[in-house]
Amino acid sequence: MKGKPMLRDLQCAQTLDDAVRLVGSGGAVLAGGTDFVSLYAAGVVGNDVAVDISRVRELAAVTQGDDKIRIGAGVTLQRIEDLGDDSSSLGAIRDGAALVGSPQTRRRATLGGNACRSSPSGDTLPGLLAAGAEMVALSARGQRAVPASEFFRGPGINALRDDELLGWIDVPRRASVSAYVRHTFRRSMDLATVGIATALEESADGPRLLAAVGGAGPTPVATPAVWISGVDVPLADLVDLLHDQIQDIITPISDVRGSEWYRRKLIRPLLERSLARCLARR
Ligand SMILES: Cc1cc2nc3c(=O)[nH]c(=O)nc-3n(C[C@H](O)[C@H](O)[C@H](O)COP(=O)(O)OP(=O)(O)OC[C@H]3O[C@@H](n4cnc5c(N)ncnc54)[C@H](O)[C@@H]3O)c2cc1C
Repeated sequence: MKGKPMLRDLQCAQTLDDAVRLVGSGGAVLAGGTDFVSLYAAGVVGNDVAVDISRVRELAAVTQGDDKIRIGAGVTLQRIEDLGDDSSSLGAIRDGAALVGSPQTRRRATLGGNACRSSPSGDTLPGLLAAGAEMVALSARGQRAVPASEFFRGPGINALRDDELLGWIDVPRRASVSAYVRHTFRRSMDLATVGIATALEESADGPRLLAAVGGAGPTPVATPAVWISGVDVPLADLVDLLHDQIQDIITPISDVRGSEWYRRKLIRPLLERSLARCLARR
């Protein structure tokens, strides 16, 4: 089509080295392809070579370590949904994965793809922030870990350099529970107007609480963790504790999914639902 970029080649990486080399020489990563095709059609992805990473074993693996869970960037959202039980630091990431599109979408779409699309409304992004995940970028120069809190830089923009791919996501194992809820106009197949993840961490010094919010600014954002006096503090007090902090850090816009005013109004009820679900997982 005139004026549109044209894919010249599709390379299927068979090994991690292949993937790193092909991306390093200018290829665009094709993971599940659920966003790639529309990004390509819109000219957002302009590379003339696509690199299919779906056959790379390391990128499709989940490794349960003592101190972290390593999730390959090519692990599908369907598999994330099926991982472990709710009472772990993965809770909010799993909640987000389970909300993306339809079962068909989730069988193709990957966690790495959701992160690298870096949509402000991406449903797994608040969970990644709430879990304190590290995004590990790979290139011919080696590996580099970027905290999720520094990975998302703007709508469709992230910390990956042109010659890097996201290799895996490390989620620290913590004594924590988390949850994610969102507001959409349709029950499914819609992007979040606003989504909120909350996490409660039990440490030797006492419980700490934080919230991460998507759809209310160019990137998802997280509050600092706040100490609470105990886990039996009434829910309404916990909502009050985080609500004003969230209002201070979000920068919502008005668009087709809602006005700035509406997005700000959604924070309290979503926070209440997210916290109630999170606390029920203790
Ligand atoms: C019908 C439908 C409904 C949807 N509903 C939702 C929804 O409710 N919530 C939601 O959050 N999203 C939704 N999406 C968006 C989409 O499914 C997700 O963003 C998906 O997780 C992208 O993953 P993917 O593996 O398909 O990525 P791809 O489409 O293959 O890639 C997406 C982008 O990320 C880059 N990329 C992918 N993997 C890597 C990597 N490892 N390293 C570097 N760059 C990489 C690609 O180059 C491309 O730019 C929906 C999409 C469709 C088609």
